[in-house]
Amino acid sequence: MTQRTDAARARLLARLAEVEARLEAQRRAVEGIVESARDANVDDEHDPEGATLAWERQQAAALATGAQAERRELLAALDRVAAGTYGVCEVCGRPIADARLEVRPAATRCVEHAG
Ligand SMILES: [Zn+2]
Repeated sequence: MTQRTDAARARLLARLAEVEARLEAQRRAVEGIVESARDANVDDEHDPEGATLAWERQQAAALATGAQAERRELLAALDRVAAGTYGVCEVCGRPIADARLEVRPAATRCVEHAG
């Protein structure tokens, strides 16, 4: 392990902890929405409050999906660190700039081949 991959690993783990905290907070938020729906005894979908709750639940689920995707990317990046292929562009095989990896630690492509 070089110093560079140690730093990358630490960065990925820190980001992963953030994402997991976010997922946990969202899970609680969804539970809270379900809870308040039960308290309000919303059984009519035409009830304006019922529609709001459904929308809130949808928003929370969309956020959780984003966080889960980010979590998968970070785990894949950690695998690449272990395999010694981290920080290499999957298109051109050249190293991805450190500045880019600082912003997007799970990046799989260099700036030139991103997007
Ligand atoms: Zn490239």
